[in-house]
This record gives sequence, C-alpha cells and structure tokens, in this order.
Amino acid sequence: MAEVFINGESVELSRLERMAIVDPAIGEEVGSVPAGGAGEVDQAVRSAYEAFPAWRDTPAAKRGEILGGAAHAVLGAVGELAPLLTSEQGKPLREARLEIRRFVHTLEHYVGLAKNIRGGYVPDLDVDTYGLIIRRPLGVIGAIVPWNFPTTLLGNKLGPALVTGNVVVAKPADTTPLTTLRIAEIMHEAGLPAGVFNVVTGTGEGAGQALVEHPLVRKIAFTGSTPTGKKLMALAANDLKRTTLELGGSDPMIVCDDANLEKAASAASVGRFFNCGQACLAIKRLFVFESVADEFIEKLAGKVGRLKLGPGTAEGVMLGPLHSARQRDLLEEQVRDAVDSGGEVLHGAKRPGGDGLDRGFFYEPTLLVEPARDSRVATEEVFGPALPVWRVRDMEEALELANSSVFGLGSSIWTADLNRASDAAHRLEAGYTWINSPQLVYDELPFGGLKQSGYGKEHGIEALDFYTETKSVVVKKAVATQELGGAEPQPSQR
Ligand code: NAD
Repeated sequence: MAEVFINGESVELSRLERMAIVDPAIGEEVGSVPAGGAGEVDQAVRSAYEAFPAWRDTPAAKRGEILGGAAHAVLGAVGELAPLLTSEQGKPLREARLEIRRFVHTLEHYVGLAKNIRGGYVPDLDVDTYGLIIRRPLGVIGAIVPWNFPTTLLGNKLGPALVTGNVVVAKPADTTPLTTLRIAEIMHEAGLPAGVFNVVTGTGEGAGQALVEHPLVRKIAFTGSTPTGKKLMALAANDLKRTTLELGGSDPMIVCDDANLEKAASAASVGRFFNCGQACLAIKRLFVFESVADEFIEKLAGKVGRLKLGPGTAEGVMLGPLHSARQRDLLEEQVRDAVDSGGEVLHGAKRPGGDGLDRGFFYEPTLLVEPARDSRVATEEVFGPALPVWRVRDMEEALELANSSVFGLGSSIWTADLNRASDAAHRLEAGYTWINSPQLVYDELPFGGLKQSGYGKEHGIEALDFYTETKSVVVKKAVATQELGGAEPQPSQR
C-alpha cells in the first residue's frame, strides 16, 4: 500500500477511500492509493508553504547540490523503479528504464543551471541612479502530471521549480502514482528537505482541482489533455495564477521525394509506436509525396509488422498494452471511423488473440492509408498505436494539411534539400520541428506547444523564466541630487 507523501514522510490516511492501481498487461490490481481531496491538498500546500522561506534562502549552488544528490539516488534505484513503472503504466521495461534515466538527466540539467540564475542591472537611469531587476521564485507550485510518462513529465517541472527556490506539490495521474511516491521517498532519503516536494494522490476532479483552487498555490504547471487544460486555465483565472500548459498534439511528418526513405520509415515507426503510441510528441499524421509513397509505405509496413507485442516485462517486447480499457475503446472508435471513411488497413486495426494477451489492453500496431481528410484520425489527437498516411502532390499541399490541425506541438520533415527544410521549419505551426531526425526531445532546447497544444516552455534555460518572476528596483545613491544638477523628480506616468 502506498500513501500520500507530505512534509518529508508517507502519511497514512486510513479514513480515505482507496483507488486501485491496475497492471494494464493483465488487468489486475498491483496496488492502491488514497483518493486525496481538498483536506490533503491543503495539508500538503501548507507544508510546502512553510518549507518555502528556508529553501528560497538556501544558496542556489547548495540547492543544486542537494537536488543533484537526490537525482543520483533515483538513478541508483532504476532497478527498483523501472519494474514499478511498468507494472502501473504498462510500458516495456526497457522504456521504463529509459524514462527513469531521462527523469534524472532532466534534474541534472537544472542542477547544472543552478549557478546561472540571473537578474539584471541597468546603469544611469538618472543622476546617481541605477536599476536592478531582481528575479525571485514564485512559491508553491502545483505540478499536475498525466499517466503516459509519469516521471519524466514530473521531472520537467521539478527541476526548474526546485533549483530556482520554489516548493512543489505534485498530483500524479489517478492511475500512475506509485513510481512518483517512491521517487519522493528516495529523494528525501537522499537529503531533500521536508516539505520541499510533496505528492498528493487522487482524481483530477478531487485532488487536482483542489490544488488549482488553493489560494497559496502561485502557479500550476500542467501536462495533460487539451480539454482539461482549458478547464484548468479557467479555474486558475480566479486567482490569476500563473499556468504552463503542455497539452495534446497531432504531429505531422512530411516525407519529400528526395528523402532518405529507409531512415524516414524508421523514424516514423519509432515516433508513432514508442510507448504504445501514447506520447504527446509522436508522429500522428504522415504526409508522403506521391512519387515515393508506395516505396515508403512498403518500408514502413515492414517495420510495423516486426514490432513485437506483449507484456512490458517480457523479453524483447517493443509494444506493451494500452494504458487502460478506456484508451483502447477510444482508439478503436477512431480506427473504425477511419476505415468507414475509406481508409485502407495495411496492418493491425484489431486486438491480438492468444498468448494470454486478452487479459490486458493490447491492440495491434495499425497502419491506415488514405482515410478521409476530415476523419477523426485527421482532426483529433490519436493517443495509441495507429498511424494514418496520406499521399500529397507537393510541399504546398503537405504544409497546408500539416497546419490544418488545431494542435501545434511537434512536426518533422524529411528531405535532402536544406532550403526546402528550412522553409518548411519556418512555416510549420508547431513548437518543435525536426529535420531529418527522429523526434527526440533535448533538455537543452525549450519545448512547448503552439495553438491548442498549450503555452509556456519546459526544458532549456527558458524554463527558469516560468518558475520565477522579476521585479524592478530603483536605487538612488545617498547624495543630494540638487548639488549634482540632477533632474527634478517626475511623478510616475503609470
Ligand atoms: P488528462 O488531462 O485527463 O489528465 C492529466 C492530469 O490532470 C491527471 O493528473 C488528471 O488527474 C488531472 N486532471 C484531470 N481533470 C482535472 C481537473 N478538473 N482539475 C485538475 N486536474 C485534473 O490527460 P491524460 O489523459 O492523463 O494524458 C494524456 C494527454 O496528455 C494527451 O492529450 C497528451 O497529448 C497530453 N500530454 C501532453 C504533453 C506535452 O508535453 N504537451 C506530454 C504528455 C502528454
């Protein structure tokens, strides 16, 4: 049994209802957590609020050192954490190990930036007068995280928040709280002070909403779906809380006639089917120049056919189950709609039979060619292992279709012509564009969506701006200005 983590310790809340955590590969319970609500959120926020002054006043280099030690301890526990993550999320063990390491790398990236938090100095505002731009942490940050990458998406918030002197109350997804709770314990055992990082489990409408509404929370850092993001933005407006919204996506990939088709097909296969297709940044709409379409589709179909499906704990598995029955139902509806609209199924579009896979939420990797351009796979986010492919005449048509989505998260283009690629990168309406590269996210580059994929940046040094606020200070030296012929003071014009 796992419990909420408040003020540096697991707190048993026997009076609360418990939420079952289910292994998506076998459909059986692997643990449970309390369904926290407004009371538990209040307890966690107050503990963070009390821890804030001491953490804020800890020298930045020391904060970095403490965070670095905590990250190192998590790395040492990969062997314990990865199976836990697989059991609650469903992803293959290899991907779970990658995810925990990625969480650590992101924290280390911000540890490295701890000594680079900067304000500003503006000389000669007036005679004997200069200005300072002071950068301060915000205070209590509410971090709300989805189930697809429960730990890396937490790390994207925890790193910049803690290193800049903020304190955090995290609300993991209802179905994936176990690894987060264990990580909080490990980080505190390794020296993170009590109250600096708290975890409250519960539903979105319960614990999540209470966190957004709590008056002592200064900012909500949210990753999740676009509809939930819209709700949170409206709620946060009541107190004018800062928000960063990392929302859904429907990334286009354009394959031109001069592309390296073999590499592009590999990138499409990995980019769509990693994490069983449940990634915000994933190839979700593929546009191929018609002159190379048949050759490209054949290569891609070959790769899709070789993806080994099975429980995340089995050797060599590349595609685990979908995370829940609900996700699979939704995907099945979208695929059915694509087929009804005229799409041809080149692979999958069904549940696998046998091998005990019927106990879990498995679905075969699916390749669809030419569903209608207004079908659901074209207009909605597809959060599962199904990839629609369309043939296009030229770059103009490809860009028009790519930009026709309400989303604007990632995008990619494959071509040997760098002028063409550069032009497309400027015109693609997305927060990230990869040219001849798989969709890998780098800590060094700021990441965030455009359009209905949200706003604000994670990663990069830029993320620090979203966890701090600046204020201006005017400093006048203690000398009589009249003697020096200084300007008469003017009243503020603002
Ligand atoms: P979701 O929006 O349903 O839930 C995300 C989190 O919000 C969960 O912790 C949930 O409990 C909480 N929540 C739900 N309703 C809430 C409310 N009313 N108040 C407060 N909190 C609430 O999303 P999901 O289905 O868990 O995750 C999948 C979605 O996340 C996809 O749309 C995916 O594209 C998106 N995503 C985006 C990024 C990104 O960086 N842009 C990364 C990963 C996932």
